[in-house]
Amino acid sequence: MTDYNRVVCRGPEEWKVEEIEVDPPQASEVRIKMLYASICHTDFLISEGFPLPLYPRILGHEGIGVVESVGEKVAELKEGDLVMPCYVAECGECENCTSGVTNMCLTHPFTFSGLMPDGTSRLHLPAAGRAGGGASHRQPLYHLLSCSTWSEYAVSDANFVIKLQDFQPDLPQLSLASFLSCGFSTGFGAAQVEARVEKGSSVAVLGLGAVGLGAVEGAKVQGAATIIGVDKNEMKREKGKAFGMTHFINPDHSPDRSISDLIKDLTDGLGVDYCIECTGVAPLITEALDSTKVGKGKVIMVGAGHTSFSVNSVSLLAGRTLKGTIFGGIKPRFHLPLLLDRCKSKEIPLDKLLTHEIQLGDITKAIEMVHSQDCVKILIRI
Ligand SMILES: [Zn+2]
Ligand SMILES: [Zn+2]
Repeated sequence: MTDYNRVVCRGPEEWKVEEIEVDPPQASEVRIKMLYASICHTDFLISEGFPLPLYPRILGHEGIGVVESVGEKVAELKEGDLVMPCYVAECGECENCTSGVTNMCLTHPFTFSGLMPDGTSRLHLPAAGRAGGGASHRQPLYHLLSCSTWSEYAVSDANFVIKLQDFQPDLPQLSLASFLSCGFSTGFGAAQVEARVEKGSSVAVLGLGAVGLGAVEGAKVQGAATIIGVDKNEMKREKGKAFGMTHFINPDHSPDRSISDLIKDLTDGLGVDYCIECTGVAPLITEALDSTKVGKGKVIMVGAGHTSFSVNSVSLLAGRTLKGTIFGGIKPRFHLPLLLDRCKSKEIPLDKLLTHEIQLGDITKAIEMVHSQDCVKILIRI
């Protein structure tokens, strides 16, 4: 199959809409006709070469689509099913899936390899000058995580695909559900699943993009009494409030004080019970630790972008915990249907995340859009 509308990343932030070839699904795979996709900060990070500079590749890891064809061993999905491709799977049986403490399935592991589980790709650039040229002339393209959603068609291992049960294709919430594929769910899960925020507790969230706003929502749902949002963008003050934030800190307004001190000012000098770090700015890890209570504070590291960073050991030795997470600990088969229900009932105001919409063919405009002050989520119509 030749796909005329794919976004190929050929180098750091070098995006092009090109014609590529999309192979049929193999035995345990499905091919998905994408309807909507969206942009997550991780797309930019990976486009810049994090954690591995794998080029050329097809971008995108958030989206919603319809199953176009299935491999012969796929039992749970069929042609026409409305689905969400994910980058975390859940076998439900391995040591990790049954542990109750992690979403890192061992049977179908999360990977940055950019290839299908069998180590190959379903996406290729056609042989130069001859679309549909023989297989031996084609150049393989890397997938992005297990997805590559910025495209007319995607191929995923069926274990990484969630069926959207009882969803009406014509509801506006369907397009917004794309935001649950990564960013918002990651933040929500970081608060609910990883931090396990308790009723009456205090939470700080560093960075109020879609991930941070998800963390604010997760903390609110868990019953946190104090939810402090921190962001240099003043426009996030109102956004944060819409999701349940109780206090806002703009660090630029207090350049002589550290973020951790500003958070302590709002918590009787003690700090918060939980801090969720969503910026991926390395020096903020120690600030996040110092913003939590001595002896029991817990930091969930969500933000990616640093392959290594240093931490003040004294901050950790003082009884605090630093925990990293992929997808906020969300188990796709268990947690996503619950979040999708909240999306359907408008319990989660996903519409407040939407700030820009584009057609896939105009995707390169997103590189500038994402830097505008009011940008939270860009929806891609395919
Ligand atoms: Zn498993
Ligand atoms: Zn993401």
